[in-house]
Amino acid sequence: MRTLIVLLVSLLTACGAAPELAPEKFGEAQGDALEVAPQSERLPALTVCLYDVAPASRAEVVAGIEAWGVALAPWRDVVVADGEDCNVMIYEVGKHANLCSSDDAAGCTRQIGGLEASDPRTEFFLYRDNYETIARGAAMHEFGHLLGLTHVADGLMKAHMSHDDAPLAPDAATLAHLSAKLGVAL
Ligand SMILES: [Zn+2]
Repeated sequence: MRTLIVLLVSLLTACGAAPELAPEKFGEAQGDALEVAPQSERLPALTVCLYDVAPASRAEVVAGIEAWGVALAPWRDVVVADGEDCNVMIYEVGKHANLCSSDDAAGCTRQIGGLEASDPRTEFFLYRDNYETIARGAAMHEFGHLLGLTHVADGLMKAHMSHDDAPLAPDAATLAHLSAKLGVAL
C-alpha cells in the first residue's frame, strides 16, 4: 500500500494541490504554455537522445519514445540516437537535482511546448528512484509536454499515474488533442 501511495504522489502536478513540476506550475500559473503552430507540411525528423539513463530503464524509455514515433509518423519521424544534433534530450537525474519542484516527481520538463520555443528547451528529466516503475509512461508523458500537451483528467497526460494505469502508447484522446493543436491528422 505504501508503494502505491508513493507512486501516486510521484506524478502530482501543477494541476493538483501539490505541484509535481515547478516549470509546469510556472507555465500554467502564468498562462504561458507555448502554443503549437499548425503544421501544413511534414517536418524533419526529431532526434531524441538519452543521457545517463540507467541500462535497466533504457529499453522502457526508448519504447515510450518509439510509441510516440508510431503515433507521430504522419507528421514527422522520431529517431532515438546517441550522439550529437539531438532535438530532444532526456536526462536521468538524481531527485535532489532541484530540476522538478518536488522530490516525489517522476519527471519534469522546463517548458510545455518546448519544441516551439525560439530557444528550444527540449530536454526533460527523469528522477532516479522515482520513475523506474513507470519509465515508459513517464517518458511518454514528459515528451507529450514538449509537444505542447497539458494535463487532462485521463490518459497519458493525466497528472497522476501509477504502474497499473500507465499507458503503453499515446491514447486516442491524447492524439486527438495533439491533432487539433497541430492541424495534422494523427
Ligand atoms: Zn506532467
